[in-house]
Amino acid sequence: MFENNDVLNRFSAQETPFYYYDLNLLRQTLHEAKVAADKRGFHVHYALKANFNSRILEIIQSMGFGADCVSGNEVQRSIDTGFAADKITFAGVGKSDKEIITALKHRIFAFNVESIQELEVINELAGKHGERANVSLRINPNVDANTHHYITTGLDENKFGVPNSELEKAAAVIKTCAHIDLVGLHFHVGSQITDLNVFKSLCVKVNEWKNWFEERGTYIRIINVGGGLGVDYNNPDGNPIADFEAYFDIFDKFLERNAQQEVHFELGRALVAQCGTLVSRVLYTKSGAKKNFLILDAGMTELMRPALYQAYHKIERIGDPVGEVVLNYDVVGPICESSDSFGKEVSLPVSKRGDLIAIRTAGAYGEVMASNYNLRNEIRYLYAD
Ligand SMILES: *Cc1c(COP(=O)(O)O)cnc(C)c1O
Repeated sequence: MFENNDVLNRFSAQETPFYYYDLNLLRQTLHEAKVAADKRGFHVHYALKANFNSRILEIIQSMGFGADCVSGNEVQRSIDTGFAADKITFAGVGKSDKEIITALKHRIFAFNVESIQELEVINELAGKHGERANVSLRINPNVDANTHHYITTGLDENKFGVPNSELEKAAAVIKTCAHIDLVGLHFHVGSQITDLNVFKSLCVKVNEWKNWFEERGTYIRIINVGGGLGVDYNNPDGNPIADFEAYFDIFDKFLERNAQQEVHFELGRALVAQCGTLVSRVLYTKSGAKKNFLILDAGMTELMRPALYQAYHKIERIGDPVGEVVLNYDVVGPICESSDSFGKEVSLPVSKRGDLIAIRTAGAYGEVMASNYNLRNEIRYLYAD
């Protein structure tokens, strides 16, 4: 994608580093997801935490998606962007009173509740402010997402969800709460899941829990299965759009439900990852006895995933003429941390100071995790529209 000199010419005049967003790829991705979901009557909430860049949010909102938020500020941002309040969900293990009140006042679609104490607090705040709250109970289905342990959320040992042993009590507590209505069940087992069998296992657990509640006289209207669909970090040009058909098909086939029961999703990464690239310049090159280094002007302050989760991102030199001599480089940033590295032993054409480097598949959990550690500059952007 970036191995052409038109892109090189366009980028050359820009101050680096910057996030490059391909808005046409974003629209195409959203379109494919929407078509595949609509066809099955599924509802998709975009998980803002993956990327809340305003241009990106506006496009996602305009294409009819709901919003999935994990903070009061994300709820407010969704409202300000024009997302319908009745399409907003609010999840998170630690919602503050102020955040709960923000969501109550906007009358969002549902709170995804993660503990009995949280249920009681939402009930109390709703009563105090003359509101009612719809809640979905987040259940930990104990499904192994086969992904990095930092982004696995659905195991018993994780902090997320109401512990299974407390669910009976939670259902009883809700019956005593005058200001909340239990509308559904919520699940989210992890992120960057590329093995669709994980979602099949999730469906089996969801069916079990739905039956468990229904046997106890609690009707479940909303089944929210969360997000987590992965993208191809190794081959962004070969697979720029996730296989939404196959993904939604699993749920369509394996989730037991009647015509009144709605299925909701909270996709983040799969909608925005591939449209973003971090573009950086080589500041310096140096070679020691064992290593060749490319030192970039972007670091973990712009893209933290490699430092935080040892995440892989494809690294390319922009405008590569074909057939050049290659060398193995450790591609590192300027930040004063040894973890500030984008890749080790990356095979790249022999590079020099001033060359432009693309770090691909950076649209999700990239810009949003930026920090100004080392008093770094604000993030810059370039959009292709
Ligand atoms: C992070 C998160 C998502 C989105 O996950 P992706 O892997 O980006 O699709 C959805 N739901 C909840 C509750 C989350 O915490």
